[in-house]
Amino acid sequence: MQVYMWGTRGSLPASITAERVRTRIETAIAVVRRRPPAEEDSIAGYLEQTLPFAVRGTYGGNTSCMELRGGTDFVVCDAGSGLRDFGAYVVGLLRAGQAKAPLTFHLFVSHLHWDHIHGFPFFVPAYIPGTRLHIYGCHPGIEAAFTRQQEPPFFPVPLGAMQASIDFRSLEVGREYDLAGFTVQAIKQHHPGDSYGYAFAAGGRKVVYSTDSEHKEGADQPDSPFVAFIRHADLLVFDAQYSLLDAIGAKENWGHSSNLVAVELAVRAGVRRLCLFHSEHTCDDDSLDRFLDDTRRYQRLHAPDCPLTIDLAYDGLTIDV
Ligand SMILES: [Zn+2]
Ligand SMILES: [Zn+2]
Repeated sequence: MQVYMWGTRGSLPASITAERVRTRIETAIAVVRRRPPAEEDSIAGYLEQTLPFAVRGTYGGNTSCMELRGGTDFVVCDAGSGLRDFGAYVVGLLRAGQAKAPLTFHLFVSHLHWDHIHGFPFFVPAYIPGTRLHIYGCHPGIEAAFTRQQEPPFFPVPLGAMQASIDFRSLEVGREYDLAGFTVQAIKQHHPGDSYGYAFAAGGRKVVYSTDSEHKEGADQPDSPFVAFIRHADLLVFDAQYSLLDAIGAKENWGHSSNLVAVELAVRAGVRRLCLFHSEHTCDDDSLDRFLDDTRRYQRLHAPDCPLTIDLAYDGLTIDV
């Protein structure tokens, strides 16, 4: 299995400004002046070793969209703005002869907040005749929500104008489904209007996609259903939009969790790799770099013997599972 992150921001897309690009170029030039590359250094290796991620890269600005590779068809979780780039990638595969029409997609929807569906009208494969698109979720009214966001005055092209065959399928919590080469289960999560997390298993590997979820009362209980749901996951993708201060202070009950709760739950459940996801849209790359450092430091203090790997999701991150 492999995971590819197409969109990782929470709540709203966030773009980098010209001023920030300029600042990071200035930083990079200052670093190069202090420590120029040796003749034998590869440029890629030099950049990797010399510049922090927030200078040589970016966490990106697309909203939630995660592709899960290794199944029988294309599988994605959520249709945030990252879905547009995923669609462009698939069209590129078609043109290069690396994918064959008709295409089949399985889209799992965590919930219906805008940032999880607003990429759908821009998903080019849905306009290609013959494409098959299965949309899964546990909420009632998913089809109505997808239809409504493409009605006037919100969008000029109605859902019915998409030429793919699109069907909406309801999933039930607690049931196990065989879909696209994965065993799939759903869990209900605390979030305004509810959200659902999904566990995907295949070939002895397990990936859990759990975004837009606030872990409150009961999360610290030994029989917590969420801990059972994520137990021994090879990869846990987890909503860590907030710092602890935000999560228990001004933003309590807003439906998101902190990086520290992420670590505690992952450690308790014996998770192998944790990917912090749904990053706060007001945070720039420098503060997200610090957020990841703080999270790793907390893990070393909280559970020094636990071999948990921690990443902070960015658009374009690939994780082999
Ligand atoms: Zn969200
Ligand atoms: Zn939400």
